Amino acid sequence: MMPNNTATQQDLPEIVNREWWKEIIVYQLYPRSFKDSDGDGVGDLKGILSKLDYLKSLGIGAIWLNPIYASPNDDNGYDISDYYNIMKEFGTMDDFDALLKGLHDCGIRLIMDLVVNHTSDEHPWFVEARKSRDNPFRDYYHWWPAEKGNPPPRFSFFDPHGSGWTYDETTDSFYLHIFSKKQPDLNWECEAVRKEIYKMMHFWFDKGVDGFRLDAISYISKDHSYPVVNKKDLKEKYRGDWSYFYARGPHLHEYLKEMHRETFNHYDVVTIAEIPGIQKNEALLFVHADRKELHMMYHFEGMGIDRASKGFKSPNPDGYKLTDFKRVYTEWDHVFEREGWGTLYLGNHDQPRMLTRWGNDNPEFRSVSAKMLITFLLTMRATPIFYNGDELGMRNIRFDKIEDYRDVETIAMYNYIKNKKSSPKRFLQDMKLTARDNSRTPFQWNATPNAGFTTGKPWITINEDHVFVNQEAQEADENSVLNYFRKLTGLRQSELVLIYGHYTLYDDDHQQVYAYTRTLGKQGMLIILNFSKEPVTWHIPDPLMVKETPLINNETSLQFNHQANDLTLLPYQALIFELAP
Ligand code: BGC
Repeated sequence: MMPNNTATQQDLPEIVNREWWKEIIVYQLYPRSFKDSDGDGVGDLKGILSKLDYLKSLGIGAIWLNPIYASPNDDNGYDISDYYNIMKEFGTMDDFDALLKGLHDCGIRLIMDLVVNHTSDEHPWFVEARKSRDNPFRDYYHWWPAEKGNPPPRFSFFDPHGSGWTYDETTDSFYLHIFSKKQPDLNWECEAVRKEIYKMMHFWFDKGVDGFRLDAISYISKDHSYPVVNKKDLKEKYRGDWSYFYARGPHLHEYLKEMHRETFNHYDVVTIAEIPGIQKNEALLFVHADRKELHMMYHFEGMGIDRASKGFKSPNPDGYKLTDFKRVYTEWDHVFEREGWGTLYLGNHDQPRMLTRWGNDNPEFRSVSAKMLITFLLTMRATPIFYNGDELGMRNIRFDKIEDYRDVETIAMYNYIKNKKSSPKRFLQDMKLTARDNSRTPFQWNATPNAGFTTGKPWITINEDHVFVNQEAQEADENSVLNYFRKLTGLRQSELVLIYGHYTLYDDDHQQVYAYTRTLGKQGMLIILNFSKEPVTWHIPDPLMVKETPLINNETSLQFNHQANDLTLLPYQALIFELAP
């Protein structure tokens, strides 16, 4: 299932290691909100199956499916109570098998989201472990006996008291949960845990799944001495990033190597690792092919550039600087210049909608800025991960009240602020821009009252703008965001220069324009993106020469003085030119 270009390795001497997972576009599908088939208000597997034609039409190579395992849903499936079964609301294992086959028949691979840093507190392992200190499963989790006093604090963003330790009366001990108290952390030091996880990975690979997105994978090894975190150090040395203390334990790479040897090594599969807080100089430790650990990873640096220095997920009132944006994505490109491979995303289920955040969701600019962001994602050197609904230009819902939210994180932090006797007013204001539920509202299929998502009561409010932003309307409009997305996925699939080509940034100080070339052998493309709502004149830097007509233009007009090599870009205009030979 390689993309449909015909170039061979010999035609492309600069490409060192061609891999199918470097050449695909990944579409992240949030099953809870995609399509409900049985009217219970929650999306499900049969619903996804009913949309195979749509998925096939997108030109994507793989789906990353958020967790679908049995779960009490404290954190929408990131709290697994049975790794071998499907969440009741989502359907059955037969539905899963049908979906996997259906996707494969369409030439789309399936990457499952897998959570192995923690389980649900309702997983039989934890149910057993908490029964007594000498239970055979006790060692599967992290405990702190109360006779040692209180454990050194670990902050949990999913806990109304901010505590990552919860006291459990039955055994007079605290257990560790970096996320909510219903998500106890597994103890990877325990060999039996590791064996169980590898066995379970084989179960899914033997079914034919094509890989895993590995949730919070750098957290699996911890420093068991639980050093006291000095607040000053936390702030000054680690920029307030708690993930440093959750992760990077002494055995991390040993476990990842073992995991690779025991599981991935036996199949043609890919892993996408979520590594919060990762620094550039550590990235290749995870994904250098020779290390035989993981294949690709994603970082969070880009997600920090529009945040204020204080407050929980508080946005910077001035937005973000394009120069920071360019710096981050350019530096990360360079990390993988020779070895390893990157991924690129601007939104996902943990982030607000990319259009609201990085583009402009006012009606005037919505469509054009959504197309501009799509152009960026599909022309960089990294596997693009595209979040469902962004191909329509869906935007933040901006809830007013805490009662509208469903997300464990937002609700916990709201209560945390209230428990501290502070006012949650500012928090609620911030959440309109940054809460995770902004991206979790149902997919907008059509203009009917429930957007074609469900015949029942949706589990979370549907954005009322679905009356004009929906798939049905965009199918009919050749200039829609959706049809632009398809054009761009087609281009990326047919032009290896957009996948493997060398990346060069131009005009790094420019505050409005992001321009770069991708070059491979004799082939080259220049990508020019106006990230602002103002028109701007931009000179194509010497000695670049482009063909007269662009390959891609997200606007209907073009102001190009070919003689002078000057372009006047409209707000959010995106252009792709082939370089003249
Ligand atoms: C997932 C989140 C989840 C958390 C706990 C992550 O990083 O992407 O959605 O809440 O892990 O599992």
